[in-house]
Amino acid sequence: MGKPVRFSRPDAAKYIRAAGKRATPFRVQVLQVLLEVGHPISHLEVQERMADRDTGPVDRVTLYRNLEWLVQQGLAHRITADDRIWRFSAARVNHPAHPHFHCLSCGQILCLPKSRLPSPELPENYAVQDVEMVVNGICPGCQTTTGSKSPAVGNLGSNTG
Ligand SMILES: [Zn+2]
Ligand SMILES: [Zn+2]
Repeated sequence: MGKPVRFSRPDAAKYIRAAGKRATPFRVQVLQVLLEVGHPISHLEVQERMADRDTGPVDRVTLYRNLEWLVQQGLAHRITADDRIWRFSAARVNHPAHPHFHCLSCGQILCLPKSRLPSPELPENYAVQDVEMVVNGICPGCQTTTGSKSPAVGNLGSNTG
């Protein structure tokens, strides 16, 4: 009990166990980061946030495998915007697929869980694996900073407000 705990680890472990899986410390930490952030973030951002903690350096490949694992278990979902960067977000078990909002200025991605995905009519014998929809636009934070010609480059993960 020596170190201050800034986050509630039991939550992530609970979700993993609820899915009937083994809650290894690494899995718990990855999911905890996703739960804590609350919006989809890239592999690199997860890595940076984990490195901020007591864990020390995080192996990219191990992290990627664990992110993939969470997606496979339905504990996280994965989306890509037009920048072709995969982003990951925590998902509750059985949570419905939903569209995402992508801010063209700051690059942040937001889940739109209340919106429905379109279900296009498919030709015969075609099976849907997964549907992805990204709405591109400008977030409220970026609308208030009109006039700044350089979007926040090199300012990943430190959005103030
Ligand atoms: Zn923005
Ligand atoms: Zn989402």
